[in-house]
Amino acid sequence: MDYDLSPEHALLRDTIRAFMTEEVAPVVDEHEKARRFPREIVDRLGEMGWLGIPVAERWGGAGMDTLAYAIAIEEIGRVWGSLGLIVAAHTSLGCGPLVLAATDEQKERYLIPMASGKVIGGYGLTEPGAGSDAGGTRTTARLDDSDGCWVIDGGKRFITNAGQAGTYIVTARTGTTDKGEAEISAFIVPSDTPGFSVGRLEEKLGLHASATGELRFDGARVPAANMLGSKGDGFRTFLKILDGGRISIGALAVGLAQAALDASIPYAQTREQFGRPIGSFQGVAFLIADMATEIEAARQLVWKAAWLKDQGRDYALAAAEAKLFASEVSSRATNAGIQVHGGYGYVEEYKVERYLRDAKLTEIGEGTSQVQRLVIARRILGLRVV
Ligand SMILES: Cc1cc2nc3c(=O)[nH]c(=O)nc-3n(C[C@H](O)[C@H](O)[C@H](O)COP(=O)(O)OP(=O)(O)OC[C@H]3O[C@@H](n4cnc5c(N)ncnc54)[C@H](O)[C@@H]3O)c2cc1C
Repeated sequence: MDYDLSPEHALLRDTIRAFMTEEVAPVVDEHEKARRFPREIVDRLGEMGWLGIPVAERWGGAGMDTLAYAIAIEEIGRVWGSLGLIVAAHTSLGCGPLVLAATDEQKERYLIPMASGKVIGGYGLTEPGAGSDAGGTRTTARLDDSDGCWVIDGGKRFITNAGQAGTYIVTARTGTTDKGEAEISAFIVPSDTPGFSVGRLEEKLGLHASATGELRFDGARVPAANMLGSKGDGFRTFLKILDGGRISIGALAVGLAQAALDASIPYAQTREQFGRPIGSFQGVAFLIADMATEIEAARQLVWKAAWLKDQGRDYALAAAEAKLFASEVSSRATNAGIQVHGGYGYVEEYKVERYLRDAKLTEIGEGTSQVQRLVIARRILGLRVV
């Protein structure tokens, strides 16, 4: 075993950390307050090659591995949760399905612009009636024999990068399987597709600078060539995509938790009550000890899942464990961060309140904590746990 990062991984971490601290941190508050999508910063990330870190160079990416990607998301999330989610959704959910299932022609046309940072990606799976039960998709796609186009009708909800993405990967019912279940296929939908529009954008608890919104399909027509993978493969593809996406949400959770710890340590060392630093009271010091311990454990789980994926090994269980643990650690640690700061933690000036608001999403997106427990329990018990 080797717990040291490789020189390439350490360099990437240090470069992103410096960029985020020096160039991005100063503009976070203004974007969060205005709930403004940071288009200029996202474009800069693209120029640096950080919008396609785990995508092969041939397809416009940086050609690095999943561990590098997890490190990047942690470092981005440590400074700005919204930006971490934007990049994670773009990379795991936008580029990921194309890496997994696209033809070379589709990769040429859609993946290269996305992985090289020229076009933002989004992923539409969730619907009003299909959240944890993503198989309950009601959006339909039917083949129009007259021109060979797929005609999509329905809508998606809570889609990250809605209104900002140039390319969306969406799932739709294309029929019924032999078992009577919904046959789900995936489609590449460019944002200028006739019949496609972006609906309401959500006002959220946190992650204010990231866009979350509705996608609408009113007879949206995409060419037959925009089906991703084979007809009926959409469900399998998205399950695989979510396995990978969980690593990045775990990494985002670790970044937010680390940010809370980074703020809490100097505060506990310098804030005095009863004539001594509050960090010298066990009640405060132990909060910090627990934060540090849990964050390190969460990071190791995330990195282990990334490592397994990079080895080409089965990583689904490890990714679910990492996401479950890291997201719950993130909520606990960011909450403890506020406690360490007392009343100052509750006001916006000290930033730690933002970390808690942002961290909560990591327990919900890409499968709630309950869904992760189902995935883990089913794998371990080999039973259909419901
Ligand atoms: C900010 C944000 C960004 C998002 N980005 C995207 C995106 O880019 N693309 C996308 O497709 N979706 C996205 N989502 C949607 C997200 O993945 C869903 O919200 C999530 O999967 C939960 O679905 P739901 O909200 O319908 O909750 P529900 O499924 O209705 O769950 C409600 C509660 O019931 C519990 N529950 C449900 N089923 C079970 C069960 N079988 N056993 C035990 N408990 C259960 C859940 O754990 C939860 O506590 C985003 C959501 C948010 C808030």
